[in-house]
Amino acid sequence: MTSPELWQKWSAARVWAAHHAPYLASALLSLHPVMITDAAADLRRFPTDQRWHVYVGAEELARQTVPEVGFWLIHQVTHLLREHARRYPGMSAPEEQRTWNLAADAEINDDLTARPPDATTPARLGLPDGCTAEQYWHALQETRDTPGDCGSGCDGLPRAWDHDLPGLSPTAARLTALDTARRIRERLNAQDDVPAGWLRWAGEVLEPAVSWRRHLSAKVRHGLAQAAGRVDYTYRRPSRRAAALPGVVLPSLRRPLPSVTVLIDTSGSITEAMLAQALAEVTGVLRAVGIGRRLLAVITCDARAYRPQNIGRVSDVRLDGGGGTDLRAGFAAALARRPPPDLIIALTDGRTPWPHRPPATRVIVALLDATGQAPEWAETVQVEGAS
Ligand SMILES: [Zn+2]
Repeated sequence: MTSPELWQKWSAARVWAAHHAPYLASALLSLHPVMITDAAADLRRFPTDQRWHVYVGAEELARQTVPEVGFWLIHQVTHLLREHARRYPGMSAPEEQRTWNLAADAEINDDLTARPPDATTPARLGLPDGCTAEQYWHALQETRDTPGDCGSGCDGLPRAWDHDLPGLSPTAARLTALDTARRIRERLNAQDDVPAGWLRWAGEVLEPAVSWRRHLSAKVRHGLAQAAGRVDYTYRRPSRRAAALPGVVLPSLRRPLPSVTVLIDTSGSITEAMLAQALAEVTGVLRAVGIGRRLLAVITCDARAYRPQNIGRVSDVRLDGGGGTDLRAGFAAALARRPPPDLIIALTDGRTPWPHRPPATRVIVALLDATGQAPEWAETVQVEGAS
């Protein structure tokens, strides 16, 4: 069991961290420590999960100094604020996990001073400062060992020590991120020193219009990877240089590619310009993995579903419809296909009734209107201010 001295050390480390990065103070308070006694767990870095738990081993807490623990708290809260788990472009191969851990660490650590000796930096990887984790991931051609594991908070893949405890909800995490971004802006206005990486991040969080494309393509990529896992798919190392889209890393697929149905809400309330942008983004990602005509069906839907279209190019889509909306008809049509699709991507303003139960197929919703609703069982991306 843990002694009061150790908890005191924990608190001292949090104070140290808040002192070194005052703009992260409220985010640091949202971290929930979970004491772990599993001797086999790699807890050198105080790994987190996506609900903002920090897994603390008594031995590590006793072994490391207050500034070292404080550094790891800043480091880990940065993984969570920057949503590295959501951004993880790989699959479940351990070498990919390690490479992403290095890439995400490099993105974080060039903004931090007082680093412990085993912290990964861009310089240590032979790469320049100031890049994103995705850019480092592309640049890292061969796998190297990382000196530690930052946990599922870094890549979203479960760890043996992860506990199924209530923690920060995705909404609460989002609010914490917005609050942190505002604090960073305030500091900037007061001409305080804030590292460049954090300024860039705050801009992206506060003006999300610039980054919805990235979010949408990341979600689609992730959805494809997961759907591919379900269709008996053999993994091999991705060819990073061969990625057809800049900034997009796709798994090399040897075995069957997942089939995808894109469900388009063509009710009167949708702006066609926004729809076109979202559709172009989605089909761009699909094309890059080689999902063409044969595997891609488009179903347009207003109050009823129209005949599925097998399209090769996005410009070939006929946007039938224009009446009221009931996407349930579209879902029914998509799921009636034989075989049913492995992934459904719905583009909609969200002003529609949704199926009550989650379909057996994974669903991504690109929500074209901030006031629209998407069901909880779908992965949702807000497509805002498309321009
Ligand atoms: Zn890390």
